[in-house]
Amino acid sequence: MSEPASSGAAPALGEGVAWGFCALGGAMVVALVALRSGDLAAAPVAVMGAGAAIAAAVGRRRNRPQVSYPWLLFSLACVGFIAGAVLRQVLAGTQFAPVADVATLAGYFATTAGFVGLLRCRQSSDRRLHSVVDGSIVLVAISALALVAFTLPTARNAGFSEFAVVQGAYPVIDAVMVFVAILLSWTSARRVTSFWLLAVSVVFMLIGDIGYAAIGTQGETVGSPLLDLPFVIAFSLFGAAALHPSMRILSAVQQRPVQAWSRGRVGLLVPMLLVPPAVLVWNDDSPSTWIGAAAGGLLALLVLSRAVTAVQAHAKAQEGLAYQATHDALTRLANRARLVQVVDELLLRADRAGDRVDVLFLDIDSFKLVNDTWGHQVGDRVLRLAAERLLTVTDATDVVARIGGDEFVLARYVGPHTPGGDELAAAVVEAFRQPLPGEDALVTTVSIGLAGSGASGGAAGPDSAESLLRDADTAMYRAKAAGRSRCMVFDPSMHDSVRQRVETELALRYALARDELLLHYQPIVSVQTGVVVGAEALLRWAHPSLGLVSPLDFIPIAEETGLIVEIGEWVVSEAVRQAARWRDQRAGSGMPDLWVAVNVSARQLRDPSLVDHVEAELQRLDLPASLLVLEITESAMMSDEDVAATLLHRLRDLGLTLAVDDFGTGYSSLGHLRRFPVSKVKIDRAFVAGIEHDADDAEIVRAVVAMSLAMRLDVVAEGIETEGQRVLLQQLGVQLGQGWHFGRPMPAEDCTFVLPQPARAKS
Ligand code: C2E
Ligand code: MG
Ligand code: MG
Repeated sequence: MSEPASSGAAPALGEGVAWGFCALGGAMVVALVALRSGDLAAAPVAVMGAGAAIAAAVGRRRNRPQVSYPWLLFSLACVGFIAGAVLRQVLAGTQFAPVADVATLAGYFATTAGFVGLLRCRQSSDRRLHSVVDGSIVLVAISALALVAFTLPTARNAGFSEFAVVQGAYPVIDAVMVFVAILLSWTSARRVTSFWLLAVSVVFMLIGDIGYAAIGTQGETVGSPLLDLPFVIAFSLFGAAALHPSMRILSAVQQRPVQAWSRGRVGLLVPMLLVPPAVLVWNDDSPSTWIGAAAGGLLALLVLSRAVTAVQAHAKAQEGLAYQATHDALTRLANRARLVQVVDELLLRADRAGDRVDVLFLDIDSFKLVNDTWGHQVGDRVLRLAAERLLTVTDATDVVARIGGDEFVLARYVGPHTPGGDELAAAVVEAFRQPLPGEDALVTTVSIGLAGSGASGGAAGPDSAESLLRDADTAMYRAKAAGRSRCMVFDPSMHDSVRQRVETELALRYALARDELLLHYQPIVSVQTGVVVGAEALLRWAHPSLGLVSPLDFIPIAEETGLIVEIGEWVVSEAVRQAARWRDQRAGSGMPDLWVAVNVSARQLRDPSLVDHVEAELQRLDLPASLLVLEITESAMMSDEDVAATLLHRLRDLGLTLAVDDFGTGYSSLGHLRRFPVSKVKIDRAFVAGIEHDADDAEIVRAVVAMSLAMRLDVVAEGIETEGQRVLLQQLGVQLGQGWHFGRPMPAEDCTFVLPQPARAKS
């Protein structure tokens, strides 16, 4: 029903058009007074009626209200009114006179339906029910009044007829319309110009109809043309309401906070409840009628006050619930639901005013580390302090929300004189560089993504709170990747890299099923003798179009999506099978069996089925557990220490060897690693690379080797590329080494070290 805002549509109307229409109405008022006794006396009301019908149609097209059918009904209503007015003049005195009333009444029904339509768009269903009940109360009371004031006198003078009923009906319908207009004003937080024009227009209709109802009691239907004056005014206000640009948001859904009985509502209902007793004593003032009327009125008021107190208690409870539903319990900031609602409202406002809304997506850097290291209590305190800090750098009009664990969102309405989101972001980043009050040692920086409405130029459709949040979130990830504690502004090209990532993720899902994954093996040798003692299995992805993809490019994605669990199981199965094959090849050669090292990621360490899978595979191929080494980086061990420790102990109990991979790149000390049952340490390539020229690197390696030996850990040096490095490492006491100097990672069939030919030739 709502019209799509296509780019080719005509622009919205300016306010001037609406006021111009009002001016036309003023001219017609003057014309009516001037022409009141001439033949053209009916012209002004006809002109304004037709004008209002056209105005409603034009306003509906040009202002593009969110829900447009009420305006169509208003348009039709005006047509009904004009038809009624014309027919009344033409058919006066004939037996077909009531046909005019049919047209007019149809117009009234269309108007009422239009108002109810507007009201429906703005209210939730339970409140709609309240409106219907309130409306019925008003309807009953006004009908009683109209019957007594107009229908009965008309019937007395002209005999009871449909004419008498119709005369009584007009003011009733008007009263209902006034009431719906009042309800409409209660549902709107801000009463826009269009609303006021509509409401006053309805009041003038009521005045006009009371005039006609009054002459109706004398049996007349046609009186002085001046009786049409209120209708000329009503039509001009009505047309102006349709043409005014604010009509666009008249039908916007309004979620108002829960209301108890408003004063206005009670003030309206009390007189209505007192109408029936008043009607009783209208003509009959016998004592018994007075007593009955007083008791009836009193009872009605008592029942109403009973209802009011009950509803007030209920509203209070609901208010509490509504607060809970829209706020975060820990920080008392708005939650996601509330944020989305408020930002959508701001966007609507900004769109009309030509301003914009900036949304900042914040994530506390390494918050997980805080939680893991100091516990959840400190984590909660940090979140509360972060919330306070955000409140100090924002303005009262900014929206501050917490939408997830350590994710906060700020939204700012940026008008011509407001500093933009970039300035706000800079202030936030700066504020978070200071240590947290009361947590001296703790500095928690934030990464921020910024997205502003209108930035996409409408290419990705109109802005919504959700789309802005998504863009700001994307930018926030960029800020993290760029080194944290900074703000990145969203740019549509960021979506491309996200899309690329999603594509990789999708392809990775099928990689296993399509047999695109394979393992390469890199020899691990005795640094002293050069004899190969084992090999590390390194994963490769033979991508159909990208070629051989490095694990560095796809393991992080596999970890994030959880695919690593399935892939990891495949790696274990494949590596165990290879180890068994090599054992069979070496059988009887007198050479010791080669062990195979498999890399295990953090995500796998949180999956208890890993142990069962490893055990099952070893059993299936009857491979001794000592031929399988699992390599785990220190950061993976630290990410969930207790869970990791439990799982590693179970693996250790199977007889497996556990190695700390990339040692030196994390934050832990060897001492800290003692709580894990590891027996091998792999010194990261970064230290080996500098060992020949950098005294510090050499010292680090020396210290690590000394400590490892003291703790009876085997040391493997990674990334040995030169003979010089090998010699130095040997002198430092390193037993095992791995690197291009000894051999690159290669397919299993190229691993000649399994049965070395030259050695055979010599023997
Ligand atoms: P890593 O476990 O530390 O593996 C050693 C990496 O160093 C390998 O990179 C290897 O090719 C490379 N390398 C070996 N010798 C030298 C050298 O002399 N010089 C240089 N510059 N590099 C050398 P690759 O194969 O790209 O693997 C990268 C990382 O991906 C691995 O680091 C490991 O953390 C991870 N990874 C590999 N396969 C798997 C797997 O099956 N599962 C899991 N979870 N991670 C894996
Ligand atoms: Mg490794
Ligand atoms: Mg490594």
